[in-house]
Amino acid sequence: IVDKIAALPEDSTYFSLEFFPPKTQQGFANLHARLSRMAHSLRPLFVNVTWGAGGSTSTKSLALADMTQRQLGLTTCLHLTCTNMSRKLIDEALEQAKALGIRNILALRGDPPRSDEYRSNELENEEEDDSNKEFTWAVDLVRYIRKEYGQYFCIGVAAYPEGHSDQSHPEHQHATYDLPFLVEKVEAGADFLMTQLFYDVHAYQDYEKLLRQHESGAFKTIPIIPGLMPIQSYQILKRTTKLSHANLPSELSNRLEPIKNDDEAVKRAGVDILSEMVETLKKNSYSGPKGFHFYTLNLEKAVAHIVERCKLIGAVNNVAVEDDDTPVANGNG
Ligand code: FAD
Repeated sequence: IVDKIAALPEDSTYFSLEFFPPKTQQGFANLHARLSRMAHSLRPLFVNVTWGAGGSTSTKSLALADMTQRQLGLTTCLHLTCTNMSRKLIDEALEQAKALGIRNILALRGDPPRSDEYRSNELENEEEDDSNKEFTWAVDLVRYIRKEYGQYFCIGVAAYPEGHSDQSHPEHQHATYDLPFLVEKVEAGADFLMTQLFYDVHAYQDYEKLLRQHESGAFKTIPIIPGLMPIQSYQILKRTTKLSHANLPSELSNRLEPIKNDDEAVKRAGVDILSEMVETLKKNSYSGPKGFHFYTLNLEKAVAHIVERCKLIGAVNNVAVEDDDTPVANGNG
């Protein structure tokens, strides 16, 4: 990923799309069709495949990564969490990723189980397997991947423009609280940052400025990719902002509140809102290619409209074309 970003012209833009593994065979078949359409018409620089905390989706995540990387020829970033995962499961995931030709890992902690469950798990595992203790924070996974695989993988890590919303430590939810730990992740070998979703563009801009000017110098040139979630419905927006503790600026809720029961109108307004956010972020003073990461929720339309409207559609060579019959819509060469 960082090699692809480095090869882009200074003033260009790029974007990535995130997908989660469907639960059923039919879901996989539907997503295959959708992904291959999106790959050819939108041409993301790369795609992300999520990982269920504790390895709950490991088989399906790897199957989806196989589809995106090997079958569709898309540069794939596989998410991998480490808390509550045995070393064996982490080793297997990394080996399988390598076997699929995947070169990019988003190294995450994952959400730990609630504290009472966590303690009882630790007690149960005490005698047979103490590997969970090896991976407490995401930085432990970054260090492990670098130790075991050298520079083979390009490693991304998560960053939180509005602070990390750790249920067990709500008092820590402030961007500055995370900073020393984010520096640690970069110094351990992370190559790029990908952020939590946000709707408060000013909060993001302040955050990026804070990082770029940080005294450690760790963030001067590293790609920082803002995370954006297209608005699919008012209910989903409310739920996701609550879960991620993202501020919904009153200007946006004032626009959406009057139409909240009309999903189509909310989606249209959402495309306007996200497009405005992208256009504002494009004006950031940081020099270098500007990236945008979209949490798609496996849906196509909203993100396609935003990417088209904001002229983010990538170059043809972003995709190793597998099926020559697929029409390339909206090509900009
Ligand atoms: P860390 O970097 O370890 O940080 C977690 C918290 O601990 C932060 O508050 C940090 O400040 C603090 N901390 C870090 N190190 C220390 C230390 N040494 N001492 C004390 N405190 C410390 N989850 C999934 O399960 N699957 C996914 O696919 C997934 N994808 C994601 C993609 C993105 C872009 C983002 C932003 C998040 C994603 N998550 C995913 C959620 C993520 O796993 C959770 O937010 C998790 O709670 C934190 O992960 P992290 O990698 O940021 O952890």
